[in-house]
Amino acid sequence: MIDTHCHLTHAKFAGDADDAIARALAAGVTACVTIGTGVDDGIRARKLALRHAGVVFATVGLDPFSSHAAGPAYDGAYEALAEILEEGGFVAVGEIGLDYHYDLDPRKVQAERFERQLELAARLDLPVVIHVRDAHDDMAAILKAHSRNRGVIHSFTGGPEDAERYLAIGWYLAFNGVVTFKNADEVREAARLVPLDRTLVETDSPYLAPSPKRGARCEPAFVGHTLRALATARGEDASVLESATTANARHLFRIDTR
Ligand SMILES: [Zn+2]
Repeated sequence: MIDTHCHLTHAKFAGDADDAIARALAAGVTACVTIGTGVDDGIRARKLALRHAGVVFATVGLDPFSSHAAGPAYDGAYEALAEILEEGGFVAVGEIGLDYHYDLDPRKVQAERFERQLELAARLDLPVVIHVRDAHDDMAAILKAHSRNRGVIHSFTGGPEDAERYLAIGWYLAFNGVVTFKNADEVREAARLVPLDRTLVETDSPYLAPSPKRGARCEPAFVGHTLRALATARGEDASVLESATTANARHLFRIDTR
C-alpha cells in the first residue's frame, strides 16, 4: 500500500515522524507521500524524504492556506517555491487548489495563484496534488483548460457527478478515511465509478482517521482501513485494489518503491 497524502511534518508528528514511518512499514505500507504546505514545510518534507529514501517522498505547493498566509509577500513565496522545485527532491507540486469553504482569499485571486502553479508544474513536468473544497465546478473547468497537467484530486469526497468530470479529463481520485464513515454513501457511490487504474488511497494524516480509529490522530499506518472499506464499497478483492493503487501511485509520482 502507498499512502499518497500525509503531512508527516505537521506539528502533530513532532518527535514522532520516524516512529510513525516505522509503524506504517510494519502495517504493510511500502511508501508515503508527505505533502509540504508552503516553502518552509516543503523543505522539511524534502529532508524527511531524504532520510527515508525509497519510503518517504515529498511534494511542495502553496495551498490556499499558505498562499493566504503569505499575503502581500505571495510573489516572493512563489519565487521561492519555483526555486526549491527546480533544485529537485520533490515528486509533485501540491497540494494546491481552491477552497471555497474557508474562502480566505477572493476566488479570482485563488484561481490566479492556483493556475500559476499549474503552469509551473507543467513546465517542470511534475504531477499535481489538488486540494478542492466546495469548488468542484470551477476546479473541473480550470483543469480542463490546463490539459498539460496531470495528477490527483486528493481526499475526494464529492459525488458521482463530480467524479465523472475529473475522470473524463484523465485525473486520478484519491480516497481517504471518509469512505469508512457510516454517513458517506455518496462518496462510496462515487468510488464505485472510478476505474481501477484511476484509484488511489491516502490518509491525509494527521486529519481524518478512518473508522475504527476515528477521533485519534491519523497516521499512515491506518491507510489499510481505508483500502479495505474502499474494496468492500467497490465489491473488489482488497488484494486486487492494493496492487492496483500501489501501481497507480508509482506510475503517477514516478517513484520506485518496494
Ligand atoms: Zn493535505
